[in-house]
Amino acid sequence: MSRLVTGIAELVTNDPTRDDDPLGVLTDAALVVEDGTVVWAGPAADAPEADDQLDVGGRAVVPGFVDSHAHLVFAGDRAAEFEARMSGARYDGGGIGTTVAATRAASDAELRDRLIGLLAEMRRQGTTTVEVKSGYGLTVEDEARCLRLAAGVTPETTFLGAHVVPAEYADRADEYVALVTGPMLAACAPHARWVDVFCEPASAHAFDGDQTRAVLEAGRAAGLGLRVHANQLSAGPGVRLAVELGAASADHCTHLTSGDVDALAGGTTVATLLPGVEFSTRSPYPDARRLLDAGVTVALATDCNPGSCFTSSMAFCIALAVREMRMTPAEALWAATAGGAAALRRSDVGHLAPGARADLAVLDAPSHRHLAYRPGVPLVSALELPR
Ligand SMILES: [Zn+2]
Repeated sequence: MSRLVTGIAELVTNDPTRDDDPLGVLTDAALVVEDGTVVWAGPAADAPEADDQLDVGGRAVVPGFVDSHAHLVFAGDRAAEFEARMSGARYDGGGIGTTVAATRAASDAELRDRLIGLLAEMRRQGTTTVEVKSGYGLTVEDEARCLRLAAGVTPETTFLGAHVVPAEYADRADEYVALVTGPMLAACAPHARWVDVFCEPASAHAFDGDQTRAVLEAGRAAGLGLRVHANQLSAGPGVRLAVELGAASADHCTHLTSGDVDALAGGTTVATLLPGVEFSTRSPYPDARRLLDAGVTVALATDCNPGSCFTSSMAFCIALAVREMRMTPAEALWAATAGGAAALRRSDVGHLAPGARADLAVLDAPSHRHLAYRPGVPLVSALELPR
């Protein structure tokens, strides 16, 4: 069945064939969807016939957000840690252990209910593709269990056994890396598309350059694509390793040397910025302008997790990117849609040109600019199109 979506005051297509305007904006537009795929987009006056019609009444339509970095399989709550941080305590990744204990103790049903609840919360805010990481199990059984649950809701599953060194391996990080690259990877790879590492020599809980390389190379040998938590707390080796090994994305990129920026500009690795983390840890933001001006592909994602950033709102991240990182509203929206798709190496999402998945988000506003112009206002949601 085909459906004509009409009454679109402004349609952001991100049509990848249009270089004159990366957002590919059409005004007074319409779009035809068939079997879950966009088959036509253009001026409303030229719209073809369809089996039925949905009039969105002068609203803006944008591609559904692609949240390429989220940690949604967990139990427990770290509001007290947030309060302590806002009262002056420093963030160093150590609180992850609290979530690990709660996650290990939770039943599959509890973890699944939380995961499904968060995905629904995201969808209500316009997010239609979500990457989900493990990383709060940190045993062979618990990591595999978290990835099995994630694989039930998204194809974009990421094995993050190397999130932190769990307490029982304190001072034995290399032994833990051997577990991650051996039996844990073997149990998790069947449920994962990606492997990721928290590369952060500045944190006593995370992994250094050699350990990161070992995890990424083992993941690649098991057939997984690569992603890296890189340069969040210091200008460590994460970004350069990500580029060298051909990772799809280097995430955070908060502390970069000029060598890091040059490496990103010369490679195929997307720089995924997560400004909700800097907001929620009261830290300096990444220099998005420096990356964009160097020609680096930039994505925006939430990093939704119970510790360093518990927002599920891509619109909030867009507002932060515009206000705090000097991205234009157009750059921020592109990064939250097409940029996220690039970070997941997906060509079927993040845009609305013919052939794309019919993942539409509708704004209760006439233009995409309102996403940043009206921060905190729930303007955007996924458009539900019954098949
Ligand atoms: Zn993360």
